[in-house]
Amino acid sequence: MLVVMDAGARPEQIEAVVRHIEKMGLKAHPIPGANRTAIGITGAQRTADPEVLENFPGVKEVIRVSHGYKLVSREAKPDDTIVSVGGVDVGGRGIVVIGGPCAVESLDQTRTIAQGIKRAGGQLLRGGAYKPRTSPYSFQGLGERGLEILARVREEFDLPIITEAIDEGSLKLVVQYADCIQIGARNMQNFALLKAAGRTRTPVLLKRGMSATLEELLLSAEYVMSEGNYAVILCERGVRTFADHTRNTLDLSIVPAIKRTSHLPVLVDPSHGTGKRNKVLPMSRAAIAVGCDGVLIEVHHKPEEALSDGPQAILPEDFAQLVRECDAIGQVVGRTLQPALAAS
Ligand code: PEP
Ligand code: MN
Repeated sequence: MLVVMDAGARPEQIEAVVRHIEKMGLKAHPIPGANRTAIGITGAQRTADPEVLENFPGVKEVIRVSHGYKLVSREAKPDDTIVSVGGVDVGGRGIVVIGGPCAVESLDQTRTIAQGIKRAGGQLLRGGAYKPRTSPYSFQGLGERGLEILARVREEFDLPIITEAIDEGSLKLVVQYADCIQIGARNMQNFALLKAAGRTRTPVLLKRGMSATLEELLLSAEYVMSEGNYAVILCERGVRTFADHTRNTLDLSIVPAIKRTSHLPVLVDPSHGTGKRNKVLPMSRAAIAVGCDGVLIEVHHKPEEALSDGPQAILPEDFAQLVRECDAIGQVVGRTLQPALAAS
């Protein structure tokens, strides 16, 4: 259920509704929007009576939400959410181009790549310290040492960092070091991890599961938000289909579908979405054209030596070209490249 307040509702009127909801043993989520505040109600919906709520001063209407997700929906918040990742806005009119290695391998490797990202105008650095690999014998990441490297490189280049947490143990460390927690495709329905990320106040980048529907993705985001963390960014990264000319099938049509249903920002990852270096630039162009809020790109200065996902990593100089083209296409669809943080 959603309680939509009048545009001019006073803070004490919002507070009175929140107190009433909590007195019923439910959870209230005030969601301020550009024109009005809505209050999402979650919990075991047993006793919230819409007629009682409707009569509170300042309440415009009470909407019964029939689908399972509430806080992620446009009904809860008609205007687009902007998530600040270490001072860089994701969502709104700006677009972001995020780059970095699949895995943090060493300080030298991460520095070299980060330098290329910054020079090219990329605003955020990605890189995994904890890698969920299909084979137990593949490189699993440097763990906390990888997080230390990312934090050091962030200071050097003023590039906020996004890195994956694969379980509750790694999550605790990731929030100490990173500006944004990535939850990967394989963990999109790890509900304990989603709830734990929801209890933090660090932004979450939630990647679509390999066979997840739009509704399942939104429900996973709802898990995070239902715990009080409203800074969620969604990411399309390709799904499994019969097509075998690419690693996955990048489902760009989910971008307008999400935009219609949800206020959350959406990124596209054409690296995992295609698995092939030569498809990353064309699919990035298409992703920006279709209306996403930015792209997440794997970059490596020596892809043939990369410890994971080398075949889909592009070179730093190709990343620079990609940033230029995303900027140009963004302008056609009324977007502007988000400025990178100034060097301090
Ligand atoms: C990654 O971003 O390196 C990654 C493992 O992504 P995904 O969860 O989309 O496979
Ligand atoms: Mn990867």
